Amino acid sequence: MEMDNQTNNHDALGPQTGIIGGTGFYSLFQSDVETWEVETPYGAPSSPVTVGSVQGVKVAFLSRHGDRHQYPPHVVNYQANIWALKRLGVNRIIAVGAVGALQKNFRIGEIVLCDQFVNRTWGRKDTYYDGPVTTHISVSDPYCADIRKILLDAGSKLDIPLHAKATLLIIQGPRFSTKAENRDWRNAGYDLVSMTHYPEVALARELGICYVSLCLVTDHATVLGDNEADPVSDLQDVVGAFKTSHEKIIQLLDAAIPRLGEPPQCACHRSLEGARAESGWIPLWFK
Ligand SMILES: [Zn+2]
Repeated sequence: MEMDNQTNNHDALGPQTGIIGGTGFYSLFQSDVETWEVETPYGAPSSPVTVGSVQGVKVAFLSRHGDRHQYPPHVVNYQANIWALKRLGVNRIIAVGAVGALQKNFRIGEIVLCDQFVNRTWGRKDTYYDGPVTTHISVSDPYCADIRKILLDAGSKLDIPLHAKATLLIIQGPRFSTKAENRDWRNAGYDLVSMTHYPEVALARELGICYVSLCLVTDHATVLGDNEADPVSDLQDVVGAFKTSHEKIIQLLDAAIPRLGEPPQCACHRSLEGARAESGWIPLWFK
């Protein structure tokens, strides 16, 4: 089954911005919330989608791990989650999540807008396109330039510093990493480590949805300077660190979301252009 990138009449009535909350971020709205149980061809999403208002703008919220954190990263139904948001009309997603720092210039409590990712997960269903129309979308620049710019601008106005460049390594989990793994990844030049955000980012691009990863550094997953920090080993530590900086995330969302209504200049919505193996597509040297 396939969903067209074009907005339809149903979508035009729904929320255009979606927030996916990660570890420590299970709800967004205080009051006046509609709750939608959305069915998808891929099964049920991790949680019902709540629709409420942020600064007067209709916004959808979905809890990535479920509202009781019952879905660990490797079993989250990413296909259903992204599809459910699209079904309600969402064309932009801000995905929030806790990450570990691999490099010492990323400190606990800091907020990061990643610009690249490296995927080391396996077995996750990371495409909507299993044929017969073969589809290769580009993710060379995986995160939406428009939303990144708006969030960076909001951070600057609010005096909330944001890292604008970081390569996010996504690992399978659910176990935390060893010191040796962290050292290996740090030496490879990766900045942050997470167990989620992939395949969300690729699935969103396949459906023409703008997507950014708004990451909060909640732990040192690596050696720092001359001292070997203990890698994170306790989920409660991550949740606790997230709560401490939660307010900054909310302030950023409050400032950025009203501006997301401006017409996008990005190419995310045209992700299928030139991506498909249609008649005449295959180059001669490939036959
Ligand atoms: Zn975009």
